[in-house]
Amino acid sequence: MKCTRCGGHAEVKLRQHNASFCRDCFVPFLHKQVERSIEKQKMMTREEAILVGVSGGKDSLALWDILIALGFETTGLHLSLGIGEYSDHSTEKTVAFAESRGLSLITVSLRDEGLAVEDAVVFTNRPACSACGTLKRYYFDRLAHDRGFPVVATGHNLDDEAARLLGNVLHWQMEYLSRQHPVLQPTHEKFVRKVKPLYRTTEFESAAYCFFRKIDYVIEECPNSIGVTQLVHKEVLNQLEAASPGSKLSFVQEFLKKAQPQLRARDTEPPRTCESCGMPSFANLCSRCRLVREVESKRARRAASGT
Ligand code: AMP
Ligand code: ZN
Repeated sequence: MKCTRCGGHAEVKLRQHNASFCRDCFVPFLHKQVERSIEKQKMMTREEAILVGVSGGKDSLALWDILIALGFETTGLHLSLGIGEYSDHSTEKTVAFAESRGLSLITVSLRDEGLAVEDAVVFTNRPACSACGTLKRYYFDRLAHDRGFPVVATGHNLDDEAARLLGNVLHWQMEYLSRQHPVLQPTHEKFVRKVKPLYRTTEFESAAYCFFRKIDYVIEECPNSIGVTQLVHKEVLNQLEAASPGSKLSFVQEFLKKAQPQLRARDTEPPRTCESCGMPSFANLCSRCRLVREVESKRARRAASGT
């Protein structure tokens, strides 16, 4: 197998691009691909301060490394979620990456903030991933706003976006489809722009990138993700991709080109303001404050009944 770029020995084959690369050519190829995604979707500029959500996994560490290589001004944001040992390992990997490169990193412990993901799992019937998603979105928004970052970048990759699209299409979730885009513009004074520069990059590509760049990431999967439907959707899409290379990319790209602009044009109500915390909300209380109240009242009830 020969490298498409230099003719040397290729180590990765990207069937969706009908190309193969040696490691020296793969790294700049991915840089270019991400740069093109950023420019094409007008995600952000080199003059803006970017807050990068870094979980300690391969995608977000690869993203941070790529953004720095492309000359963006970045600060990492790591949320220590409070999901047992998994969270401890994730925090260790993120801190080690930042320290080894002298990068600026903000670490926030959700337990110190009063509500870890584990509390939501123990005290409510909500699915762990939904509570976790609520808390992550809330702290991305709040920290970016409070610390003056106009943009939050996350490491969602092509596999994530294709699986999410499939899930949304299977149930024709029009509201979710209208908001599925690699760039979300703020609809409230306390929201900032949210971007996904890896939306055309596969999980395989970010893993290969970390391997070639010697980036040490947390390999174990979140224990709460076992059995979630999104993994079934990813598996189905992988089978489709094996039979017909490029399916995932065209599924997402064609959706963005052909269907998304029409869905986005739908009238959607702008968010109001949470009565408790002042952040954007679609009800009197935002979803994070509702979660906090639910946990507090169940905790108090359990303490009173001694169970
Ligand atoms: P996930 O929702 O776990 O698939 O992660 C999607 C993206 O959200 C990651 O690529 C990160 O950019 C961001 N993210 C997930 N977990 C964390 C975390 N604990 N701290 C900061 N960012 C995170
Ligand atoms: Zn609130």
